[in-house]
Amino acid sequence: MAVNVSSASPYQGYVYAYPHKTAYRPLDPRPPLREAWARERLDSLFLYLHIPFCEMRCGFCNLFARAGAPGELVAAYLDALRREAHAVREALSRPDAEPVFTAAAIGGGTPTYLSPDELNTLFDLAEGVMGLRNAPLSVETSPATATPDRLAVLAERGTTRISIGVQSFVDAEARAAVRPQRRAQVEAALGAIRDTGFAVLNIDLIYGIDGQTAATWRYSLDAALAWRPEEIYLYPLYVRPLTGLARRARSFDDHRLALYRQGRDRLLEAGYEQVSMRMFRLPQAAYRTVYRCQSDGMVGLGCGARSYTERLHYSFEYAVTARHVRSIIDEYIRLPPAAFTAARVGYRLDEEDLRRRHLIQSLLQAEGVDPAFYRERFGTDVREDFAAELAAFERRGWLDGLRLTPEGLAHSDAVGPALFSERVRGLMAGYRAR
Ligand code: SF4
Repeated sequence: MAVNVSSASPYQGYVYAYPHKTAYRPLDPRPPLREAWARERLDSLFLYLHIPFCEMRCGFCNLFARAGAPGELVAAYLDALRREAHAVREALSRPDAEPVFTAAAIGGGTPTYLSPDELNTLFDLAEGVMGLRNAPLSVETSPATATPDRLAVLAERGTTRISIGVQSFVDAEARAAVRPQRRAQVEAALGAIRDTGFAVLNIDLIYGIDGQTAATWRYSLDAALAWRPEEIYLYPLYVRPLTGLARRARSFDDHRLALYRQGRDRLLEAGYEQVSMRMFRLPQAAYRTVYRCQSDGMVGLGCGARSYTERLHYSFEYAVTARHVRSIIDEYIRLPPAAFTAARVGYRLDEEDLRRRHLIQSLLQAEGVDPAFYRERFGTDVREDFAAELAAFERRGWLDGLRLTPEGLAHSDAVGPALFSERVRGLMAGYRAR
């Protein structure tokens, strides 16, 4: 194993997908989407729509998002999204099979940066062009934009899960994370969400904010729990404040681990089950799908979205700095229909990557790896394929059988990166951030 997990920081990287976009490179020649999808299973796909706009830029943001976009830009973006949707839907058309979306999400950015009319346009595209029907659908929102008129559109158009980034119920902490918001606005947004009625409400909270203590963290956890949300995500802050406790990397790690444990214990005590390091859910929560992230494909639309066939992951160019995000959006809105028929940037997965991806996507979930599912896909035993890696986790007390222990889950952000292939590791190291 290339990473020495015995000395690694618990916070190496959030592995929400493998490989990370920083391992993607321009594809030359650009593979036509029709070919990329020609032999894929289409019976259980995820549809992801990306809206890269936000009302402001949060200090901790490392997503592809632009703050304060003018109305004309949003309209032009939706036009481009429609051109892309037509091209992609066309590429997915096959005589032997029609695409079936078994789960969908609209993310960002902040999708509710769009007006109610614009949201309707977006749903028309998802349903009318892509054929989205009756699938569990998740939409992200923010305290300032979760207004009753927008929420009404989301509910009417079939949204089953709404996820709101609150981050902290303490105004001073929200300011410290460079997200100025008022508690009253947060409560009004949560009230409007509950009044509108969605099957699942998710609240995102962040720990590790400058000035946050065990007492203020407890305060935010309890304020979130007062809404009895079906799901709560607890995110560690990845941008180290240069003041207070967090001045030294080691103490920042210890501080975040302590807050993580406190948060986890509070949510377990309140009756939530732990699904992964970040995700907690009420056992009866209604958001369920047959989509399997280890093996099923994803169709992404929008300039920050990724798409996954089994062997090719692809997207548009990637950036996080404001200047580059702007130029990528500006280029995207000018693309003619033909430009959407081929993949531009991506990564081709080899046999080793497929197995590593399957392991990572399973092991980082509390339920762990299903060896029968792995064997069904690859014809081998996961315990033999990854004997050295699994033994290293076991020695640390992070693994019990094929499941992470509570300490293992706490160290998910070290476990995931330790499973990256040499090739992915090399590409990520060679990525020039922009
Ligand atoms: S709302 Fe989300 S995407 Fe937008 S700036 Fe904040 S963290 Fe980034």
